[in-house]
Amino acid sequence: MQIEFYRRKYGRGCRPHLSLCIEGQHYHVDTSPADYGMNLITHAHTDHYGQRNMDNSRAVASRESAAILEACTGKVFSGVTFEVGSRIRLSDTKIKTYPTYHMHGSAAFYFQDSDILITGDVKDYSKLPKCKILVTEATYGHPSHIFEEEVEKLLKVASSNKAVFGAYPIGKAQRVAEILSKDGFGFSAEEKIARICSAVGLKPSDGPLIASPRNLPLYGGGYILTAHKFYRWPRITLSDHLDYRGILEMIDHCEPEEVLFYHGKPSKRLLEHLKNEGIVCRTLNDLPVMK
Ligand SMILES: [Zn+2]
Ligand SMILES: [Zn+2]
Repeated sequence: MQIEFYRRKYGRGCRPHLSLCIEGQHYHVDTSPADYGMNLITHAHTDHYGQRNMDNSRAVASRESAAILEACTGKVFSGVTFEVGSRIRLSDTKIKTYPTYHMHGSAAFYFQDSDILITGDVKDYSKLPKCKILVTEATYGHPSHIFEEEVEKLLKVASSNKAVFGAYPIGKAQRVAEILSKDGFGFSAEEKIARICSAVGLKPSDGPLIASPRNLPLYGGGYILTAHKFYRWPRITLSDHLDYRGILEMIDHCEPEEVLFYHGKPSKRLLEHLKNEGIVCRTLNDLPVMK
C-alpha cells in the first residue's frame, strides 16, 4: 500500500500539522483547507484549525466538534459530521473513530487498511486501538511534565461561597461544567462559555462561576484550572492532556512500530526513550514539504 506523510508549503514555511496520501487519496490533519483532499478535524481547539474549515465541504469533524465550532464562530459547519465511535467511509477508505476525552467531541481517526491511527490531542488513551503507525501529540513531552489531577480540590473549592474558576473557554470550561453538574453544584458561566456549554448539552444555572482566565481580575480573582505554572492565581491542576508518563503509557498501549509526533513538543529524552524500545520516531521536521 502506497502511504506518504508530507507537509504543505505555505509562504516561506509550512501549513500547520501534516497531510497524508494513501493510494492517491489526500487527508490533511488539523490544518487549513486545500483545494484537494479532505480535512480531518480531531477537535475544536483553535490551534487545530477547525474554524478555518467552517466553509470547507470536504472537512470532517464529529457532531460535537461541529456544534462547538458553530457556537464559537456563529457560522454553520458545512463539512461532513460523524458520531464519535462510529465508522466512516471517505472515498474508498474505511476509517473508525475513537474518543480521546481531550474535550467534548475530540476524536481519533483509525485508517483500517493501512493500520494508521491519528489521535489529535489525548487525555485518556484507554479506548484507542493498536496500530502500526501512531500519529499523535506530545504537549507534555518532557519528563519534567508529570502531574496529578486535582478534582477533589476543585470540588472542595466549589463548596465554598462564590467560587470563581478560570478555565480556557473551549474544552476546559465544559469539562469543569460537567464535573460541577454531576456533583450537584451546577455552574454559572460567562456568555461565551455558556454558549459553548449549551452546544454540548450543559445548561448553566446557579453555582460557581466559570470565567475566562484573563477575566479573573473582574471578579476579584479566583482559581485557575490548568497544569501550566505560569499564572499568578492559585492553581487547581486540571489538564486536558496526558502528562509525560501518560504519553509513554499510550504508546505502550497502542504498540506501534512507528510514532509520528505532529503536535506539541516531544523532547530528546522522549524520542531517545522510544528509540531504545525499538520504535521508529519522527516529528514534523522529518517530513517532506510539497506544494
Ligand atoms: Zn487541543
Ligand atoms: Zn493541541
